[in-house]
This record gives sequence, structure tokens and C-alpha cells, in this order.
Amino acid sequence: MRVFNQSNQSNTIGFVPTMGALHTGHLSLVEASKESNDVTVASIFVNPTQFSAGEDFDKYPRQLEMDIEMLENAGVDCVFAPSNVSDIYPSSPLCHVEPKAFLNIAEGQARPEFFRGVATIVCKLFNIVRPTNSYFGQKDISQCVLIRRMVEDLCLPINVVVRPTLRADDGLALSSRNAYLTESERKVSSVLYKALSAGVKFCEDQSQECLDTLSRDQVIDIITNIINSEPLVTRIEYVSIASHLDMTELNVISPDKSGAVVSAAIRIGSVRLIDNLLMGRSHRDIFQIVKT
Ligand code: AMP
Repeated sequence: MRVFNQSNQSNTIGFVPTMGALHTGHLSLVEASKESNDVTVASIFVNPTQFSAGEDFDKYPRQLEMDIEMLENAGVDCVFAPSNVSDIYPSSPLCHVEPKAFLNIAEGQARPEFFRGVATIVCKLFNIVRPTNSYFGQKDISQCVLIRRMVEDLCLPINVVVRPTLRADDGLALSSRNAYLTESERKVSSVLYKALSAGVKFCEDQSQECLDTLSRDQVIDIITNIINSEPLVTRIEYVSIASHLDMTELNVISPDKSGAVVSAAIRIGSVRLIDNLLMGRSHRDIFQIVKT
């Protein structure tokens, strides 16, 4: 690994925060960082504060040595992997980052502790690593929107770069949690991507005039029916059509004017899967790089 001097202002630092159990989706963020920065730092930390009681914090896949090897092979210069939770949360904290409005968005209602935990840990990691550019995956679209807003709201001098979701050949979004799927569950798990794609295609097939009056319910029905056609799906937590600006639900879908994030969370057996696709303006806005 390369040694670098953080006080040398000419170094640009690219940062890829992760919870480990790495796959090629994570490595695509590393690659993007390496293309645009002098130094790339990745972190591996399974952050307890973003898990609610009863979620999978204890059984979240941990494979630190293998992850470090993957990062080294991918050309990462520095890995930050705090081994104790108390290194990051040393005492009862007085302050945290509270994105209250995100309690009301679809993913926030499904996971009430999640966004406060994410915003707080990412803010801490930003302050520890002090990156120039930080890299996030579209796969966790609400997280991307939150971090962009946090950087803007709190005047953090960091560019947030969002990269597209990497998928398996059948369309399933790569995720560390896919390891929980049994063989038969894995075979049918691309139903989520297929359903979202059908919803987006339906919108894209409409004329512009129809789109301006298209009700969200029609699109949600298309997506829900496809997901429900798969018997191994045990639950649909939500199907959402939201604004990429703040993840609030859209009543009318107008991709060129307001854009749209079409997303869903489902359970196959006990495994929770999330995925999303972007339409129109959302696509342009999410992948743009805003220089601070
Ligand atoms: P995680 O380790 O799950 O917290 O993810 C760390 C980063 O990798 C986050 O910014 C994720 O959005 C991103 N990521 C996870 N899965 C994918 C994927 N399939 N494609 C691209 N980025 C991903």
C-alpha cells in the first residue's frame, strides 16, 4: 500500500465507505475513485446504529481478510477498518445527524433507525477520512439522496459521486445480503428487477401527454402484480415512485419534468431485497457530479 501525506493539499482523496462482504458492485466504486483521485481510501465497518433491533447486525457477513485482499488487488491505497464499535462511538454521544423527514419516505418507514444511523456514520467517516470525492452506489438510492442533501445542508466540502447498480446476469442487483438466499430463492430473486423494469417500460411506452396524467397507481399495480406472481415472495414491504430530490412520493409521473425513482423492497423467504430504477430527469441529476 502507498503512503501519502494528508497535509499535502494537492492530493485528491477518493473515499468508498462500505460494510464489507465485498462484491464487484463495491469494486466498481473503487474503480471510479481510482480514475479521478490521487489516493483511494475504502472503509469497512458494520455500523450498528443503522440496524434496528431484530435486524441482521449480528449475522451480517464479515470477511475482513478477504475484503482487504480484494481492495488491495483493486488498487486501494488505504483501508480504514475500525475493529471495535467503541473506536467509532467512544461514549454516549450527545450529537448525531437526524434526517427527520426521511422517517416518512418508503424506506424510512420500513427501517426507522436506518437513515439517522447512516447519516451519522457517514458524517463521522467524512470527518475522519476528509475525502475530496466520495462514492456511493445507486443500489441504495435513498442513501445517495440523503448523503447529497446532508453534504449540501451541512456545507461539507465533499463531492458525492453516485455510480450505477451492478447486477448479476439475470438482473438481480449485487448485494452482500444475497448470500442469505437459498439456491431456490436465488433462482427467482430477479423478479424484483423484472417487475421494476416492466413498470418503467410501461411509463416509457406512454406518449408525453399521457405521462403527464399517468397515475402512480397504474404503475404500482403492474410492479406489484409481477412480484406477487412469484410464490417464494413472502412480503412486499413497499413499491414506491418518488422524487430523486427528497424521496417523497409522486402522485403524477412526469419523467422529464420531475423525474422519478421507481423502487421496491420485498422479502423472498426471510431475505430482504431492495432495488430501484431511475426515469428521465432523475437519471441525469443523480449521476451528475456537483463540484463544491
Ligand atoms: P454496503 O457495504 O452495502 O454498505 O455498500 C457500500 C457501498 O456500495 C454503498 O454505496 C452501496 O450503495 C454500494 N453498492 C452496494 N451494492 C452495489 C451494487 N450492486 N452496485 C453498485 N454499488 C453498490
